[in-house]
Amino acid sequence: MTFKDFNFNEQLAEGIQSMGYNTPTAIQAQAIPVILSGKDIIACAQTGTGKTASYLLPVLNDISNSGSGHQISTLILGPTRELVQQIDQQVEGLAYFTEVSSLAVFGGGDGIAYEQQKRGIQNKVDIVIATPGRLIAFLTSGALKLDQLKHFVLDEADRMLDMGFFQDIMRIITYLPTDRQTLLFSATMPGKIRTLARSILKNPEQINI
Ligand code: AMP
Repeated sequence: MTFKDFNFNEQLAEGIQSMGYNTPTAIQAQAIPVILSGKDIIACAQTGTGKTASYLLPVLNDISNSGSGHQISTLILGPTRELVQQIDQQVEGLAYFTEVSSLAVFGGGDGIAYEQQKRGIQNKVDIVIATPGRLIAFLTSGALKLDQLKHFVLDEADRMLDMGFFQDIMRIITYLPTDRQTLLFSATMPGKIRTLARSILKNPEQINI
C-alpha cells in the first residue's frame, strides 16, 4: 500500500512527501479509509505508531477539498501542552502546501500567552488543537465557537481521563454539534474509556494494531 491509494489531493500529497513519509504505517492503513468514509472510530494505538497522521491526513484532505472556510471545522483534544504542540507541528508540516490553518491552545504560561491564543482565534483557523482546561476558558467566555465543527478528535484519551479531564470533556461536548465525526485514540482501553466511547461515539469502527 502507498499513500497514493488514498487519493489525497495534490497539495496534501506534496506535504506527505516533504515530511519524508513513503509507506503508510499499520494504523494509517487501517484508520485512513474508515475516517475518509465519514465513520466514527475508536482506535487502540501507542505513540510512535504514526497515530497522529492517521487522523490528520483524512481530516486535512477533507478541509482542503471542501475549501478552507477558515472557521473551526476540527477540534483535537490532548492531555498536555507538549502533545498539543507536537500535533500542531505535524499539522504545519503536512498542511504546508494547503490553505489549512491551525492554532494550539493550552494553559500555563502567562496572560500574554492567553492573549496571543485569543488573537489567533480571531484570525480564523480551521483546526484548533487544545488541552481541555484552556479550551473551556475560551468557550465559556464566548471567544471561541464550535458550532460549525465537523471532526472531533480525542488523542491519548486514557491519559486525559487519568489526569481528571472527564468532566471537562463532557462539558466541551455540550458546545459541539451532534452531527459530527468523532475519533477516539487511546493507548489502553480500560472500562472508563469504553464508557466514554459509548456516550460520545456513534456506531464506531474499532481499530486495534
Ligand atoms: P506518532 O505515533 O503520531 O507520534 O508519530 C511518530 C513519528 O512517526 C512522528 O515523528 C511522525 O512524523 C512519524 N510518521 C508518521 N507517519 C509516518 C510514515 N508513514 N512514515 C514515516 N514516518 C511517519
